[in-house]
Amino acid sequence: MDLKSVVKKLQQFADPSLAESWDNVGLLVEPTPPHEVKKVMLTNDLTEAVYREACDWNANLIISYHPPIFAPMKKLVQSNWKDRIITGCIENRIAIYSPHTSYDALAGGVNDWLLQAFDISSSKPVTQSVTSAGPYNKKLQLTISSTDRESILKCVSGIENTFTTVNELNKEFCEINILCGSGTIPAILESTQCFCDKIQSTALFDIQKIPKSGYGMGRIGKLTSPISVSEAVERVKKHLGLAHIRLAKGIGCDSISSVAVCAGSGGGLLKNLNVSLYVTGEMSHHDVLHAAQSGVSVILCDHSNTERGFLKVLQESLTKVFQNQVDIQVSKSDKDPLDVV
Ligand SMILES: [Zn+2]
Repeated sequence: MDLKSVVKKLQQFADPSLAESWDNVGLLVEPTPPHEVKKVMLTNDLTEAVYREACDWNANLIISYHPPIFAPMKKLVQSNWKDRIITGCIENRIAIYSPHTSYDALAGGVNDWLLQAFDISSSKPVTQSVTSAGPYNKKLQLTISSTDRESILKCVSGIENTFTTVNELNKEFCEINILCGSGTIPAILESTQCFCDKIQSTALFDIQKIPKSGYGMGRIGKLTSPISVSEAVERVKKHLGLAHIRLAKGIGCDSISSVAVCAGSGGGLLKNLNVSLYVTGEMSHHDVLHAAQSGVSVILCDHSNTERGFLKVLQESLTKVFQNQVDIQVSKSDKDPLDVV
């Protein structure tokens, strides 16, 4: 499958606009076309070990959950491990795509998978995703006499990036509604200036983004029935396939009836939530202390251990998305840099 078609399908699967504004998602390395994608390697982090594995397997595309290019690059040199990977991918014609926080926000994405450690009766995102803004973020509404309708419509019809509708108010008056971006408003007002004595009223509205149900960062889940803290620990270990995790038992927290999860680094998101347990990869000492002293237990698993298991789910999902036309493998070399020793 051509890389362009692959990227289109990946973007349909998880719209890059779901990602956080600070993130760097999407196609990060694009070989010169045509680029046929037959083999896709999935990894959480693109390390040199994963890069070598991808080369040995003749991968044409690496989907790296964490973006291997994040800070702007001023040079690509062989003394830097990240630069070696990027130049290697370019030379070996391996494309790189990173979905990162768009998969965190996705309904059925990384955070929903993490929450599956528990039996949940209901869940919702900690913060809500909204639909992408589209080309129009303003609505300019002109109320005019119906007799001036055609001449005013003629004036605004030539302005690019606008969408105009007319609403009949009664036999005498109508509203002209012009959807546009903020930058287009001066041009619209200028074009209708010669009719200003005929315009009864002018109003400007913000077009609000619409919440996307089930999409957003983190998840809060209500358990079907309360469990002990030790059972919660065992469930997380089993779900993530870990022998050891870290627990800060909340003061007076003896049973868990609700949980908030955040794959990766949860300190920014998991604060003062009305739940019995936080599960995340990492949090600062002071965030953990605050939660535990406030009666909320905290389970820390190390950053990528809360993300990597989703790759197996992703492998199945993308196999369906690409209708078996592309071979998709999860990297065997990818692992969290931290071990408990
Ligand atoms: Zn992460």
